[in-house]
Amino acid sequence: MDPQRPGEWRKYKTGMCEGCWAGCCTLPVEVSVSDLIRLGLATEDEAAESQKKIARRLEKEGIIQSYRAHSQLFILQQRNGRDCIYLNKNRLCTVYDKRPEVCRKFPKIGPRPGYCPVRPK
Ligand code: SF4
Ligand code: SF4
Repeated sequence: MDPQRPGEWRKYKTGMCEGCWAGCCTLPVEVSVSDLIRLGLATEDEAAESQKKIARRLEKEGIIQSYRAHSQLFILQQRNGRDCIYLNKNRLCTVYDKRPEVCRKFPKIGPRPGYCPVRPK
């Protein structure tokens, strides 16, 4: 099953995350400036001044890979072009309580709503 091919994903069922390799955390993660503030990666003052400036700093620090000015969304950096930088070696989120909105809403909202790139760990 290729996570980049939503057509191959499986329908989400309660309890499916148990034992899953966190396929959702291998997809590009789009975050807002509010997510960055909650994660402690930017301040309210910086956000009020310039989101582009935050993007330049976070790109240099290796936290984001790009910034989409039209939608004001930052794309988190991925390790080996795949895993989210906040995924640990046990495939658990290291910022779970502060995780981005998009992570909280998956798979209700995502490339194929209601479906997952699930795979055993
Ligand atoms: S891909 Fe789906 S089943 Fe796997 S951890 Fe993410 S939400 Fe849970
Ligand atoms: S922030 Fe956490 S939940 Fe969201 S993609 Fe990264 S590891 Fe997964």
